[in-house]
Amino acid sequence: MTSPFPSLADLPTPALLLDQDVLEANLRRMQERAGQLGAVLRPHIKTHKCIEIARRQAALGARGITVSTFYEAEQFADAGFDDITWAFPIPLVYVPRALELAARITLRLVLDSAEALGTLESACAGSGAAVHVWLKVDCGDGRAGVPVESPRVLELARCLAGSPALRFDGLISHSGSTYPARTRDEVVRAAERERAGMAGCARRLREAGCPVPAVSIGSTPAMAVLERLDGIDEVRPGNYVFHDYTQVALGTCALQDCALTVLASVVSHQPGADRFVVDAGALALSKDPGPPQSAPTTAMGWLFDDGPTHGLDPCVRLTSLSQEHGVVTADSAAAIEGRFRVGDQVRILENHSCLTAALFDRYYVRRAGRVVDEWKILRGRT
Ligand code: PLP
Repeated sequence: MTSPFPSLADLPTPALLLDQDVLEANLRRMQERAGQLGAVLRPHIKTHKCIEIARRQAALGARGITVSTFYEAEQFADAGFDDITWAFPIPLVYVPRALELAARITLRLVLDSAEALGTLESACAGSGAAVHVWLKVDCGDGRAGVPVESPRVLELARCLAGSPALRFDGLISHSGSTYPARTRDEVVRAAERERAGMAGCARRLREAGCPVPAVSIGSTPAMAVLERLDGIDEVRPGNYVFHDYTQVALGTCALQDCALTVLASVVSHQPGADRFVVDAGALALSKDPGPPQSAPTTAMGWLFDDGPTHGLDPCVRLTSLSQEHGVVTADSAAAIEGRFRVGDQVRILENHSCLTAALFDRYYVRRAGRVVDEWKILRGRT
């Protein structure tokens, strides 16, 4: 029987290739890890934005999902996901629509300010909706959240716990501070700092008489290295489904654990040049400059070699991206002499799979070197 899917050689490039066996191994490994460490896994689906992948996560034991946009919340609710945490400080303009969604699913919102709390509380009191709320705490991330040592954590937690209109879920953080780490040991220290910071914060609140129903943390690097999750109830990694070059550089996965690559065509290679151009630019790979760990050899993307070594091509790397052009530079013209001719296809390992996936409409799902399915990416905005 002929396959209903195009062969790799016929795919219109740039195309997003998803290696199904690697994906499924990544899903299983994280689910097992969360189970062994005694935490509920609520995966962040912003990485894949794909119903087929979220259903696989749920089938393996994930409980609920995490999203980063209201659009994702609506789309996944429509697909039957009925327990969703929108792990982003709620933009107040979305409060009325969030309450509508909360009328049909368990919706968990996040806030870190008295302004958001006040707005949400008055809106909920008027509507009778049951909205769950996490209090966002900053454990060294330096992004959103009340600093973990601030007395405002207790003040806001008390207001949430005592609110007749809201349901307080507990404390939530994101261990983004693992990403700038330069060594695996630094990742371990950042992850453990977040775990201990959050567990300690919940303990102090409880000692002060404020109930904290649960503590939720997580990132892919943290989950790759933490050996215990004492004081933590839930973890929310996202990137682990695909991994990417950043995780490889952090030492939190092997190259073989990377499930996502961009298939591109060579479109220009001038004779004698030490560079050539592919049709994967910033709108295929994003302009994520990659992890600081890889300096001084940074790149906007890496050529993936599908051969027996399954490694990165040591001679070339993407050095600049414009909208649709990707410039690949070699160590020397001789290193690529006779290789990478116009019309050839290359596979690129991206620096940041979450941003790359968000630039495409579909995954071409690959197994044993063949395209076996196409899965839609829900990347819209409301
Ligand atoms: N939770 C929040 C709030 C996040 O912002 C993110 C990622 O940015 C995650 C969880 C998942 O982290 P990662 O993609 O490193 O697994």
